[in-house]
Amino acid sequence: MSALLDTHCHLDAAEFDSDRTEVIARAQAAGVSGVLIPAVEIKALGHVRSLAWQFEQGAYAVGIHPMFVRYATDSDLQALRDFVQAHLDDPRLVAIGEIGLDFFVPEISHGSQRARQIEFYRAQLELAHCCGLPVLLHVRRSQDELLKWLRRMPPIGGIAHAFNGSFQQAEQFIGLGFALGVGGAFTFTRAKQIRRLVTTLPLSDLVLETDAPDMAPAWLARDARNAPEQVAAIAASLAQLRGVELDVVLAQTKQAALRVIPRLQTIWT
Ligand SMILES: [Zn+2]
Repeated sequence: MSALLDTHCHLDAAEFDSDRTEVIARAQAAGVSGVLIPAVEIKALGHVRSLAWQFEQGAYAVGIHPMFVRYATDSDLQALRDFVQAHLDDPRLVAIGEIGLDFFVPEISHGSQRARQIEFYRAQLELAHCCGLPVLLHVRRSQDELLKWLRRMPPIGGIAHAFNGSFQQAEQFIGLGFALGVGGAFTFTRAKQIRRLVTTLPLSDLVLETDAPDMAPAWLARDARNAPEQVAAIAASLAQLRGVELDVVLAQTKQAALRVIPRLQTIWT
């Protein structure tokens, strides 16, 4: 069987503080060889880096998440640039992320908070462009605004994680060099729009992810903690929904990941 790869896993989250070693061991026992760990804030950068090195095929991304922008200072952007500068030769550093825009949470979707989210998003796109790294995008009710700024830049590409937009928006991200992250959301039978998307779009434009500890798939309890080992059942569920062999899903989504995050090619061999 081809390798199981989780392209979006917050292994550094506090939810894993009590048993992180066991969580990693269970993922490896389930056949998960590669994990990409994005950072959400400046103080997490060192942690995601050390965690990435604990997996044989671990990788990490660094960035300031849109939901953490309200706690961030302007000096955090400089600290991020400094970190990238200092670690650009680290082969496990593969992307800038998790960055993006969140217009779902009301308190940060209007006025100055909204403007600040956009400011941080633009600054981090600029950083990605400067250092030649792709981006991991958080997309929530923000597809068109995200696309608007991407179109003004030379192509950066990456992953639109937990994608939940329209078919037209999906095609625009794909046209800009992105793959769409597919995880727990499509496993709910009521999620008709996402299920249509993940069955209609080419597998070569999709990558598998858990977003653990969040986005628990349908077979876990409602507020259960998600974990990277779940990417196995997510992959099987996608294969079943599309009516293809599991190996086809694993092989094609892996190729997609290696295409949009080129540095993974030396890690996820
Ligand atoms: Zn995330």
